[in-house]
Order: sequence, then structure tokens, then C-alpha cells
Amino acid sequence: MTTAWEKYDKSTLSKVMDLSEDYKKFLNSAKTEREAVDETIARAKKAGFKEFSASRKIKAGDKIYFNNRGKSLALYVIGKKPIEQGMNILGAHIDSPRIDLKQNPLYEDNGLVLMDTHYYGGIKKYQWVARPLAIHGVVCKKDGSKIKICIGEKESDPIIEISDLLIHLARDQMSKTGSKVVEGEDLNALAGSIPAKGKKDEKDLVKKNLLDILKKEYDIEEDDFISAELELVPAGKARDLGLDRSMVMGYGHDDRICAYTSLAALLESEKPERTSVCILTDKEEIGSIGSTGAESAFFENTVAELLNLQGNYNDLKLRHALENSRMLSSDVSAAFDPNYPGVNEAKNAAFFGKGISFNKFTGSGGKSGSSDAPAEYVAKIRDVMDRNKVSFQFSELGRVDQGGGGTIAYVLANKNMDVIDAGIPVQNMHAPYETASKADIYEAYRAYKAFLKDMK
Ligand code: MN
Ligand code: MN
Repeated sequence: MTTAWEKYDKSTLSKVMDLSEDYKKFLNSAKTEREAVDETIARAKKAGFKEFSASRKIKAGDKIYFNNRGKSLALYVIGKKPIEQGMNILGAHIDSPRIDLKQNPLYEDNGLVLMDTHYYGGIKKYQWVARPLAIHGVVCKKDGSKIKICIGEKESDPIIEISDLLIHLARDQMSKTGSKVVEGEDLNALAGSIPAKGKKDEKDLVKKNLLDILKKEYDIEEDDFISAELELVPAGKARDLGLDRSMVMGYGHDDRICAYTSLAALLESEKPERTSVCILTDKEEIGSIGSTGAESAFFENTVAELLNLQGNYNDLKLRHALENSRMLSSDVSAAFDPNYPGVNEAKNAAFFGKGISFNKFTGSGGKSGSSDAPAEYVAKIRDVMDRNKVSFQFSELGRVDQGGGGTIAYVLANKNMDVIDAGIPVQNMHAPYETASKADIYEAYRAYKAFLKDMK
């Protein structure tokens, strides 16, 4: 099997490794969609990007970003050609499967305080128990202030966990099917066990003690959980995987791995012919809807704002801009796994090390729910990739009728632009820790650069 590894000389190999070093840093500081937005803005500003202002004229080479509620972003490098003639767009999502706290989470049960949760996205619930979890997110107060929370990432921080049943007493549990081994309503995180000093027969003193700590250390009252977004994610950092350090294991590759590589390519775009765009969106894991999801009017509004600055704005120009655009809608793909070979059809499976993986279509069953990229556009993609010597593969998620999945591709394709699914293959998708190949990370980054530069 030929992989990208075989073509790397010594100096390219060190570039491959360096990119993943930087990616691990990105991943470690971006464990939620909000943190991904903050980290992206910091990197964009360093690269000369400015937040959009309606009072500033724009010209070719300008670098502009739009921030939507701190949870999704659109970044632009203005091209030499008018935006009406189309943009080259990279899109990825920055939300990942996780476990959210409920709005009324805290309760005491037999001397223990627990936090009740509601999981986000498609997870195998049994994978999230008996492991250190960190709490990330925000608490919004009635006075308009916002408290950022990140507990459990520093060595000295406490963590929380969702317990699992000991094997010694698990006879009934072990005979259940996978989806029932751990059930959604039972995902309650253990958060404390010391009672506050109280009156005789006073109830819930352990919870009282915990609320005292929350008040003292974070200025949070119990009611403030109502207007909070607190996400439980695996505590700990992304690590090199494999004795040859060829892979990265980390939380949230889906889809920050495509977000990072798309961003890295965009930040290097200088005065392109066609305007370069990177859309980083929220809510993909729960259907792309809502104000910060890909279906939101946000992106279209940002295009309208820029067209307006280019003069003589009208609705038709907006429609032309969208219609003349091309997009790589990037999301992780399933990497072939020798432990589970039966779910793939080898000719059309994605393999570690063979580069960025394109999917002409996604969906399930008879391609249901998929935006099937037109063959004419697929041919252009092949041409751009070949001319830039990018390692790439064409794959499907798995065997026909084995399952399926969706992405944001159809959302933009519905605006009548050319869109194809692309992305980096991962193992253990949606598990607390996912695995990807450093060669694929590097080739995706190169693919995005080639696309921004050469797609016509
Ligand atoms: Mn995804
Ligand atoms: Mn996903």
C-alpha cells in the first residue's frame, strides 16, 4: 500500500511532525466550540485579520473575520476578483460530541453530590464512564456578565467522573445490549462528598458545601446553572500515538482537525484571485440548525455585508456570489480499522496515511440525505490536487447499508454552489479519544492551500 509517508524526504517529514505539534496545541486549547472560536481569533489576529466593520472599505488582500455569538466564525481573505464572481470556501465544524450539564443539574444522593447531564451528539454512552472529565463552558449572569469555566485541565485541578458499575456486580448489566449498558438518564457525574456544617437533621449538606465552593471560587449561585453552557469533556491533552509517533490521539478531532487545517491554510492565503473563506460552524453534531449552526443566515449575511462594501449591493449579486462559489465541506471520515474490517468495502475505504479523503456523497441507505457532488466538480478537484501533488483518496464512510452519517455539505450546496465532502480519516470517531494520522493532517492542510489558490 502506498502512503504519503513514502514520498516525504527528511525536511518534509519534519514539517509533517511540526504541523501536528501545532495542531495538538490548538486542540488542547479548543475543547469546546467557544474555546475554538477564541483560539481561532487569537491566531487570526496574529496573521493580520481584523474584525469586520461596516465603516471600513475593503480591497484585495484584506483579512476579515465575523464572530457569531462566540460560537461560530467566518473568515475571509478578499480576492482580486469581485466576490460576485465566486469564492473558494473551506468549511468545518468546531462542536464535538460531549456531555452537557442540565439546566438544573445538582442533587444530593446518600451523601454524594451529583451533576445531572444530557449528552450532545451521537455517543456510545458506555465509553464516557469511569474516566476523568473536565468542565468547560460559560455561566451567564442576569447582570450581563459571563464567567468562563475550565476546571480539570491543570494537573492541580480537580476532575469529575461518571461512575461505572464494578464487574463483580455487573451480571445483569453485562447481558444488556450496547445501547442499554449505560443509559442516557444515568449519566450523572460525581462532584462532591464533604458535608457543610449544619443544624441537626438539616438536609443536603454536601450539596450546600459544594454550592458554597461554587460561590466562593467562581461566584456562581445554583440558579445560574439555568443560563450556563457547561460541557463535560475528557480531561487531558492530545498525545502522539504509535511508537513511531505517526498518529495523534485526542478529544475532538471531529471536527477540529479539519477546522485547524482549513484555518492554517486560510491564514497563509495572500491576495488570492478568488476570495478565500473559512467557515467554522457550531451545532453540526445535532443537525446544523439554530443561530450558530451551518443552516443559520449568518454566513449569507456576512457575504452580503462584504458585497455591500464592494458597492451597488443588490440581492442578485448575493445569489451570484453563492452560485459561483466552490466549497470543500470538511468533516472527519472513517479510517479503515483492522480490528473491524467487516464494516468497510476496501476499494472505497479511507486508510491512514493515504492523505485527505474525499467523499462524493455521504448519507445512508441509498445515499439518502446526501449532497452528491457533481462529477464535473469532482474532476476539477482531482485536477487541482494532482497539479499540487497532494496525496488524496476517494472513499465512502462504510459498506452499503451498514450505517451512515451527514455533514454540512448539503447546507451550502442548497445555495446552489459546488460542494464536495472532504476530510481527515479517524479511528474511534465520537469516542472520548479519537485517532488520526499526521500524514493525513499534513496532506489535508496542503489540499486546502491548493484549493484556495487554484480552484477556478
Ligand atoms: Mn463531524
Ligand atoms: Mn461527528
